[in-house]
Amino acid sequence: MRCYLVMTFISNMNYIILDLEFNGTYSKHRHKFVNEIIEFGAVKCDEQLNIIETFSELVTPQISKKLNSHVSALTHITIDELKESNNTFSRVMSKFRKFLGDDVLMTWSNSDILVLMENYQYFFGNDRLSFLKYYVNLQKYCERAIGYSDKSRQLGLSTCAEMLGITFEEDDLHRAYNDAKLTALCFKALYDPELLEEYLYVCDNDFYRRITFKNYNICDLKDPNINKREMFFNCEICGKRALRRSKWRLKNRSFRAIFRCIRCRRDFEGRITFKQCFDGVTVTKRIVELPPKEKHKTAKPDPNAEKRDK
Ligand SMILES: [Zn+2]
Repeated sequence: MRCYLVMTFISNMNYIILDLEFNGTYSKHRHKFVNEIIEFGAVKCDEQLNIIETFSELVTPQISKKLNSHVSALTHITIDELKESNNTFSRVMSKFRKFLGDDVLMTWSNSDILVLMENYQYFFGNDRLSFLKYYVNLQKYCERAIGYSDKSRQLGLSTCAEMLGITFEEDDLHRAYNDAKLTALCFKALYDPELLEEYLYVCDNDFYRRITFKNYNICDLKDPNINKREMFFNCEICGKRALRRSKWRLKNRSFRAIFRCIRCRRDFEGRITFKQCFDGVTVTKRIVELPPKEKHKTAKPDPNAEKRDK
């Protein structure tokens, strides 16, 4: 119901797709690492997803006097360019706030909005983006809209564009404006207003709790958020419940045990992870074949073994 009201309310609004480039740097002053924003790029789309306005600004770094090599290699931005732009974060922000107005902010994954909050915290002492009304994580939206189901890896922007047959120049990527434009093209190709409702957040306190929540794997079997009833495995061949034949052990943040299917006379390793997310625990299970048993090391090779086996 709330979503429906929101959509009705925003039906005359535009979508602002933002991309940021930033430079990871150490602030001696604050004794911590900061992802300092060096470029803003954004496009404004109308309800038909036509680009009606654009935004592109470099930001002169105030924390670091040089760019780390990874950032300059990826973006081809030089420190001289940034210095010449003579644009503080605060000045670019005030331009961007005007550009955004009360429209919906969208980014590809939530890392850019988190970096924006981090810069707000650094320069203004508060990480809340008080001007922000609505937000959509377009990566999550596009993953769903395109039917992407690989839980182990997030959908990359260029992969998404390739899947949709949207052409782009590899060299143009990783510049804020180009990435924002490519994101807009992906969004347009996958536009479904009804589905979008599910991904549209009103930026209230709950939103900030959600966006700053860090998912983690539960590594203690006694954790009350673990549902022990999930800790079973069915045989992949016959579908019957398998018997657990070892204790659970923890490795690489997954619980592992040996299981046996009596019917198929087959042993396998069952691996299960419990990921604590904002909305609850996500359970992932995987079956791994056991390596064939090694022959006893002291056993002498039997020259007749091959014959006998036949
Ligand atoms: Zn079986």
